[in-house]
Amino acid sequence: MANRNIYVASELGKIFTHTLKNMAASKIKVTSSNVKEALMDNDEFLNLIKHALAGGEKSELLRYVTPLKGFVPDESLKGVEDAVFDMDKDFSDTLATLLTTLSEHIISMERKQHKMSNFIEDVFTKFVNLQAELSSSFSNSIDFVEKDLELDRQLLGDAEDMHNVLKSEESIDYLRSKMLESFSNFVNTFGTKTDSKQGQLDTISQEYTTVNTELQDYKKQVSKLQSDINKYKTESITDHLTGLYNRKYMDIKLEEEMERYKRMNTPFCIMLVDIDDFKNINDSYGHLIGDQVLKHLANLIKENIRKTDFAFRYGGEEFLVILSNVDERNATHVGEQIRKKLEGTNFNIKDKSFNCTASFGISLISKGDTVEAVINKADDRLYKAKSSGKNKIVAS
Ligand code: GH3
Ligand code: MG
Ligand code: MG
Repeated sequence: MANRNIYVASELGKIFTHTLKNMAASKIKVTSSNVKEALMDNDEFLNLIKHALAGGEKSELLRYVTPLKGFVPDESLKGVEDAVFDMDKDFSDTLATLLTTLSEHIISMERKQHKMSNFIEDVFTKFVNLQAELSSSFSNSIDFVEKDLELDRQLLGDAEDMHNVLKSEESIDYLRSKMLESFSNFVNTFGTKTDSKQGQLDTISQEYTTVNTELQDYKKQVSKLQSDINKYKTESITDHLTGLYNRKYMDIKLEEEMERYKRMNTPFCIMLVDIDDFKNINDSYGHLIGDQVLKHLANLIKENIRKTDFAFRYGGEEFLVILSNVDERNATHVGEQIRKKLEGTNFNIKDKSFNCTASFGISLISKGDTVEAVINKADDRLYKAKSSGKNKIVAS
């Protein structure tokens, strides 16, 4: 009996569960009337009820209800149990109570389902709205991302172009940083170069100034050296007392004139000048006065010869003059100018006064003559001037 009741309860629960599933699958709204109608149309349910009723035991019915635990609320089952144990109610009343209880449960479930449905609908609406908002937001985000992506694509395109140009696999930022770094390095390097070049320029300018200054100093030194050389050269060929050329230079110049004569047949005369009685002047007025007389005669000679002529101090109070391209007559004329001026000079020493004369011997170069021969010839004529009274010129 007990096994049979368990079977009925189990079957009742299966039928009830199956009925609700079919209603949901057929989209039949779960109401108490619809559940009652569905159960009355269910042959299995009716056969089960008939089977239970055949037992005639209300306690049996409770066993049928027990498997419903977990499916219907306990308070609903409590009403069924109460109906079952109500001894005043017969089995049909109890079955009616059971169906009513189940129907009420279904109605309760329907309400709960409605609330759930509303909740779900509300949640769904909110979800839809949220989804819309999210979609909109996402759409906006998509727009932004698309724009950003488009910009990125442009940047990427630029980067790819730069890649192609620069033959580099690096990113645009890296390239940019690299380029900035390179440019910065370039600027720094260029700046360093510029500074270096400026430094070099300054150094070169300083070196140029230094070198230029040194060059100017060198030029001055060279100029001074040349001046000194000329001075020493002049001094080396000059008689310090009279300022005429000295005997050393006389030898050189006589050779040159001889060569020129031989080569170009350019004549020249030698004029020897010797102060008369000079020893007496020294003795009378002293050597310093004698020197003044020597200087005076030297100046007279220089002043009365041409620039192409040369005058030398030949000895103590003797002078030799080379008169270029002249004959004895012209040479005598020059000598005469000098002789007269010396003769006409009054030497005033302190409160004393004296005059001084000189004798002249002139010779003209002739073919076959040597320097010594020309000088000797002039010296011979000077001697003639001395011996014939002094203060005169002998040229033949
Ligand atoms: P002459 O008329 O014959 O030429 O007689 P002189 O006295 O002129 O000739 P002498 O040779 O006898 O004397 C020349 C003198 O000239 C001797 C010497 O002391 C002097 N004498 C030579 N050189 C210089 C000099 O540089 N300065 C002075 N003050 N006297 C000098
Ligand atoms: Mg003399
Ligand atoms: Mg003499």
